[in-house]
Amino acid sequence: MNRFLIWVIWGLLALGFGSVSGCHPLVWEVYERVQGEEGRKRPEAYSGMRDYTLYAPDPAHPEHTPFKHIRVNVHFVNSADSSMNFNFPEGVEEGRRLVRSMNALLYDNRKPYLPKGNNIPALPLRFDLVLSPRPGDPADSTGIYFHYDDDLYDYIAYGKDMNRSDKTVVRRYGVQLDTVLNIFVLGFNKDSLVSPTYKKHRVGIALGDALKMNSWRHLEGGCWESAKLAVHELGHILGLQHSWGRNDGCDDTPPHPNCWSCAEPSPCDTLCSNNVMSYNTYQNSWTPCQIGKVHYRFADLKSRTRRFLEPDWCEWHEDKTIFIRDSIHWQSSRDLLGDVVIEAGGILYLRDCRISLPAGGRIEVQPGGKLILEDCLLRNSCGGSWGGIYVGRKGSVKGVVEER
Ligand SMILES: [Zn+2]
Repeated sequence: MNRFLIWVIWGLLALGFGSVSGCHPLVWEVYERVQGEEGRKRPEAYSGMRDYTLYAPDPAHPEHTPFKHIRVNVHFVNSADSSMNFNFPEGVEEGRRLVRSMNALLYDNRKPYLPKGNNIPALPLRFDLVLSPRPGDPADSTGIYFHYDDDLYDYIAYGKDMNRSDKTVVRRYGVQLDTVLNIFVLGFNKDSLVSPTYKKHRVGIALGDALKMNSWRHLEGGCWESAKLAVHELGHILGLQHSWGRNDGCDDTPPHPNCWSCAEPSPCDTLCSNNVMSYNTYQNSWTPCQIGKVHYRFADLKSRTRRFLEPDWCEWHEDKTIFIRDSIHWQSSRDLLGDVVIEAGGILYLRDCRISLPAGGRIEVQPGGKLILEDCLLRNSCGGSWGGIYVGRKGSVKGVVEER
């Protein structure tokens, strides 16, 4: 049941670090895992425990959760006479403004208001959105599209012609639906807009693999308020449920009366929430469990949201080396972008997880460092090969790899 082949290549790699201090050179031993899973679990099974907090970024080491980029595009659907939504070229700037505003919210996670007096940290989300035009298409440089269609231009949220969950517009105009999250910005209905009794609302819906919302062109608060709504719908697409009840799968989102603002009378003055998955004017707080849930799905090889990510974990990145200098425990799958270097005194304990290393990426256990492996699959998730585990020795001080 030896799952490792050990080759000792003394001398061959002796100058891997090129440093000769004192009497002892640093030498490297190659300690490489046998490829092929020996009839054990399939890679898909290494999605870790369904404890989402294990996937939340570590505030002391945020880089241990590689930053993810979600590919998006934006569609403005307009009436044939072009009067009901943004048009080119102004619309290109509006589409960019939407993505920029959503990212500004994602970069600025806030502490939760509830429960009162909590000490829940505002962790970094470690993901954002990137506008993604069709690759290799010089006619598509922006990932922002304009459609003119009198049948599909309007978002009707209520009433007999309600079309809020209708996906026809997605099917007709969607671009790269399998790899890019399509955001459709629809106009108001022309006749409704001129009716004196019509009340304009900001509305949106997550439709599984696409997002539909109404245009801010005719709404107070403009793009910024719509970005908050879009981020809420993004949360649904990333697998989150509404957080005011008890059934969202997270213990750090207590039930609350779903007040719009803390300025409203009791009980809202004390029980208002700023959670992104509730209805409120803030929508600026993601709890550790919610963030962990998002990253759990990013790491799940079968999930829909993983398809939207830029697969930047295939290539090796020189500047993405992770240095382990204290005791670190990973019990969650992750796709790394560069090497892992375990320095003297550092311990990396990998358990119940799938760890992907980029092409040629390696794990270095320096003299005095330790790597512990327990039911963990090391591989390259892009079908290529990674660089293996290297264990250093300097005199009597060795790196250690321990299997449990
Ligand atoms: Zn919702």
